[in-house]
Amino acid sequence: MAGLTMLDFNPSNYWLDTVGMPAGTPGDLPERVDVAIVGAGFTGLSAARTLAKRGAKVAVFETNTIGWGASSRNGGMVLTGMKLGVETLAGRYGMDATRRMYAASLASIDLVEQIVGEEQIECSFSRCGHLVVACKQSHFDSYARSVEVIAREFYRQLRIVPRNELRGEIGSDIYFGGIVDEVSAGVNPARYVAGLGRAAIKAGAFIFEHARVERIERNTSNGHQGFRLSTSRGGLFAKEVFVATSGYTSKATPMLQKKIIPVGSFIIATERLPEALAHELSPRNRMIYDSKHYLYYYRLTPDNRMLFGGRAAFFPETSSTIGRSAEILRRGMIGVYPQLRDVQVEYAWGGTLDFCFDTMPHAGCMDGMYYAVGYAGHGVAMATYLGEKIAEQISGVRDENPFGNIPFPGALLGLYNGRPWFLPFAGAYYKVLDWIS
Ligand SMILES: Cc1cc2nc3c(=O)[nH]c(=O)nc-3n(C[C@H](O)[C@H](O)[C@H](O)COP(=O)(O)OP(=O)(O)OC[C@H]3O[C@@H](n4cnc5c(N)ncnc54)[C@H](O)[C@@H]3O)c2cc1C
Repeated sequence: MAGLTMLDFNPSNYWLDTVGMPAGTPGDLPERVDVAIVGAGFTGLSAARTLAKRGAKVAVFETNTIGWGASSRNGGMVLTGMKLGVETLAGRYGMDATRRMYAASLASIDLVEQIVGEEQIECSFSRCGHLVVACKQSHFDSYARSVEVIAREFYRQLRIVPRNELRGEIGSDIYFGGIVDEVSAGVNPARYVAGLGRAAIKAGAFIFEHARVERIERNTSNGHQGFRLSTSRGGLFAKEVFVATSGYTSKATPMLQKKIIPVGSFIIATERLPEALAHELSPRNRMIYDSKHYLYYYRLTPDNRMLFGGRAAFFPETSSTIGRSAEILRRGMIGVYPQLRDVQVEYAWGGTLDFCFDTMPHAGCMDGMYYAVGYAGHGVAMATYLGEKIAEQISGVRDENPFGNIPFPGALLGLYNGRPWFLPFAGAYYKVLDWIS
């Protein structure tokens, strides 16, 4: 294929072609519920499942359909750690807090595995491990120290792969070495979110699709303090509200919207590859990402397509950002894997990530409403985990949530109302940083 144009591929999400999403709850809304959850992705559905299993009357409200947001659009990489490295975390929060955060990231993968097993979700969950590859010698040189800190502080042994051994991990010669973490996993995210939705419904939760939450106001009903929610399918009273809207957070929750930067991320998927070529590209079927700020992440799908993603355009998904990103990603993919030069790209899609101003997850209570946001591209496992943690907190369980009490900064001088006018500048800044660092 010479140049990729909008007409050369199907501008749609590959994962959605592998799954049937469950249908939401038909009919009218109940008059009142114990907990109203806004957003039917990993966060909201994990919380709904836990709350319903504990006997709460729960209603999830979703503007679109179950799993419509980032949860069905992502790379399906279930990764250890967080977006920020442990040394940055330790410098900012101290080593004790960092230990608890890191432990939460490991527990979050165990939780996904446990839910997949308990609910018998067929989503190709597999502990295939992840590989980080160094784009520069200086990046590779810093790996020894990171691996040493993780071994000393967290008792976990990651493996450094020198350049001359990389072919055992990846069929590309452009990198300077890598690190392997065997604990990370891969999943088909659309099948996983569909399974979480089914599990929440089975446990007794209502899930109202095409039900945009437009307003949330404090209210009292039968002597109970709570909230009145106005939605596009009607209104109801809820004792508690949990906002799980991630990069799609809107004016319905203005305080939270001001704390979240929605950033686009895009993916292409090729046609199915012959077994031998797939094996050459990724002999151990790892989840792979590179060491740049403006990074590429890629993996094989369970049916041997190369799925290749990146922050090709910083703005959220539209047909034009998807089209431009598909071209950029295809060039990037061939840069990594010249073997794919003549392979067809069959799918291209985008989704919106949620970055907080400190690049950290945050889960707690603001204005009397619960929230869990800020996954910064590491949300498959963490969203599942923080959804469950907040659900437990709402049910009165006092358990540790290492992201509950850390400072939750907004924009400097309050210069942000939820419209990320600075994204082009941030994009340019990170490109320069990748060039010089
Ligand atoms: C392209 C891409 C690739 C990614 N790759 C990875 C990866 O490989 N590994 C990883 O760990 N993470 C990855 N992520 C991040 C991960 O997908 C997210 O962190 C995670 O899905 C967040 O889940 P969530 O339930 O919080 O939000 P979402 O799944 O985004 O769900 C939020 C939902 O809220 C709904 N909503 C918003 N406002 C309202 C309202 N007012 N009323 C009703 N409903 C509302 C939206 O319609 C949406 O469906 C990726 C993200 C993207 C976009």
